[in-house]
Amino acid sequence: RYELFDATVRAQVLSRLHTETELRKALECEQLHVYYQPIIDTATGQPVATEALVRWQHPDHGLIPPLEFIPIAEETGLIVELGRYVLEQACEQGAAWQRQFALPLEMFVNVSAHQLANQLFPVEVAEIARRRGLLAGTLELEVTESVLMGEAGSSATVLNELDAHGLRLMLDDFGTGYSSLSYLRRFPLGGVKVDRSFIDGLGDNPQDAAIMKAIVEMCRALGLTVVAEGVETDTQLRQLRQLGCERVQGYLLCHPRPPEEITEFLNERLVTVTEAEGSASAYLKTARANVVRPSLPQRAVGSLRN
Ligand code: C2E
Ligand code: MG
Ligand code: MG
Repeated sequence: RYELFDATVRAQVLSRLHTETELRKALECEQLHVYYQPIIDTATGQPVATEALVRWQHPDHGLIPPLEFIPIAEETGLIVELGRYVLEQACEQGAAWQRQFALPLEMFVNVSAHQLANQLFPVEVAEIARRRGLLAGTLELEVTESVLMGEAGSSATVLNELDAHGLRLMLDDFGTGYSSLSYLRRFPLGGVKVDRSFIDGLGDNPQDAAIMKAIVEMCRALGLTVVAEGVETDTQLRQLRQLGCERVQGYLLCHPRPPEEITEFLNERLVTVTEAEGSASAYLKTARANVVRPSLPQRAVGSLRN
């Protein structure tokens, strides 16, 4: 037998190894930062949640986006440590915003298959949320379809455990991958985040509008929250509102930004409503009344709080 040696493969392997070593260093030297992107309620125009998105501030290469290092972190198992770091940061920041604005702003955090493979993950996450002071029922974990598919057997228990701890699960990048609808009833999901490839065509492509309409209606019937990702234009936003999509996220509304800048964004957006409605709790009532959400099992809410 013979094998072909390709110098580019060698270069790739070396580059990966180098990134892995650097990533380990990044975790130790606090080069990883969590950015946040607001999620807006289409009915009220108000921020109701933020998604935590990790960034690597490399001393030589500047800000590195997650898609350049998350896959390597997953391959090497470093994602467990990285994911825990993001969870700690996000829960602390989320709790700070909840206190500052006196609102149950939700925090969405991406989790990977590796993290869910750990049977103790639900207990650990619930503990982080409690210790950091995040309000019960306001932490939402984003998982992709490939995560559900890959670990379907073993992670089902973990997913049910998460649900029992009052941790909501959102299906990320919905519509890409295998899009098996059976996931929607097989797993204890709180909602779906529709991939931006379906949002792109809204306004120009009637097929995308038809698909989005079907997703919104199906999710409403199933009691699932729908978040549209990657909203970049007014036309897309208008159409999503018409279709009854409850929540939107995208560059049109706000880019992912460091926490201080998001504090400013929340301050501007939430203060306006507070002034208009008289109090933060008045805003809360209007915002919540407009959102169709499945209610959390009471025992689950209780267990996170205690
Ligand atoms: P995702 O979870 O689907 O996050 C949404 C991505 O879309 C983010 O990219 C966000 O910056 C980008 N985005 C938001 N609005 C728009 C828009 O209007 N237009 C366009 N073109 N893009 C938009 P980002 O921050 O580069 O993250 C990429 C992916 O990396 C995430 O996709 C997620 O899968 C992964 N990721 C990020 N942070 C973490 C983390 O802490 N843990 C894990 N496991 N994965 C993470
Ligand atoms: Mg996500
Ligand atoms: Mg996504």
